[in-house]
Amino acid sequence: MSEPKQYTAEYIIELENRLLEAEDTLEAIRKGSIDALVVKDQTAGQQIYTLKSADYTYRVLIESMSQGALTISEEGIILYSNNQFSMMAEESLERIIGRKVNAFVYDEDLPIVVEILKQRSANIYNSERTVRLKGKSNKEVMLSARKLPVSNDNAYMCLVVTDMTERRRVENAKDEFISLASHQLRTPATGVKQYVGMLLEGYAGELTADQKTFAQTAFDSNERQLAIINSILKTAQIDFGAYQLKISEQDMKQLIEETLIAFRPMLMMRRQTISCEFEEEVCAMVEPIEISLVVSNLIENASKYSPEGGQITIKLKREKKFAIVSISDDGVGIKDEDHAKIFEKFTRIDNVLSDTVSGSGLGLYWVKKIVELHGGEINLSSMLNVGSTFTIRLRAC
Ligand code: ADP
Repeated sequence: MSEPKQYTAEYIIELENRLLEAEDTLEAIRKGSIDALVVKDQTAGQQIYTLKSADYTYRVLIESMSQGALTISEEGIILYSNNQFSMMAEESLERIIGRKVNAFVYDEDLPIVVEILKQRSANIYNSERTVRLKGKSNKEVMLSARKLPVSNDNAYMCLVVTDMTERRRVENAKDEFISLASHQLRTPATGVKQYVGMLLEGYAGELTADQKTFAQTAFDSNERQLAIINSILKTAQIDFGAYQLKISEQDMKQLIEETLIAFRPMLMMRRQTISCEFEEEVCAMVEPIEISLVVSNLIENASKYSPEGGQITIKLKREKKFAIVSISDDGVGIKDEDHAKIFEKFTRIDNVLSDTVSGSGLGLYWVKKIVELHGGEINLSSMLNVGSTFTIRLRAC
């Protein structure tokens, strides 16, 4: 489904540019540097914009926007508001103009507004960060700001306010659909796993060598298919906000050691060694299953993206109020410009090993989400062809 036009960043930029052009025209006419502006219209005729007609055009334009539009002073006082903003804020225009923009957002969102007002450059500030407007419907809105050229009428910045309700509704419907679809896909795929597993275990009689090879190949492909379905399901559940963490005190050394057991055969096959440097008694407030999956994912990547014979190091320590786990490898590494990208959904970065290893590009996305749901953070330090270290910081207890 294509995104509704009014929500695209390009459309907001286009509107703001048109607003700025209209403002420039008005300003020039007001200052007397020109008396009027003559513009060719569609029918090859000419249209003359005087102060009155240009002002009118400008007002019609901003009143017909589906976004709210505000002009504010340096102190954040609203000098102009269109009707759309008045509808979003559920306040009459008389109660909007002359008040501070801060009065319309909740206290917890004020730092975002302050940050926008402090902005020095005249470039567009198109933040994905949103605030909630006070009012009965508590609308979630995205603020895009542009600083205005210095003028003598106090106008300092224009703000375009986009209602996120519809966008969230579409996103939630999409996440719910993905979540349901992957649930439905998982059931038959699990059935295939059970029956092919029974074939391999000889429940239907002894298999010939060829039959065994074929059944084993089918089993391995089905395992990969299930892993991808599970990753998609988990990602959709996180995005949909249907993820409940049951946090409790956990001994991190024990948790990591238990997680490691499952990796021994794979690491042996790839002749990779793992060394552990664990401080004793590092306790963290975590959901054990999820954090074990986070650690598993990072170890699996460390192994996947390192050549045979590589060395993986896991460290655990306590630093002030945090339990810190780091997983390092001496593998292919990641270029600086890709550091942020690898945490995005469905992102796989080409490297010398990516043709030979499978993956969905979802692992690090949900790793980061899970760590953040715990109130923690994940960092990467990596150099191409030298290796990578992923470090997670979790709340210690
Ligand atoms: P996947 O491994 O399924 O592709 P991930 O989200 O786990 O997805 O990782 C995203 C990308 O980040 C990978 O495709 C890979 O290019 C890169 N990457 C992840 N971990 C490492 C690592 N330890 N060393 C080098 N590259 C890595």
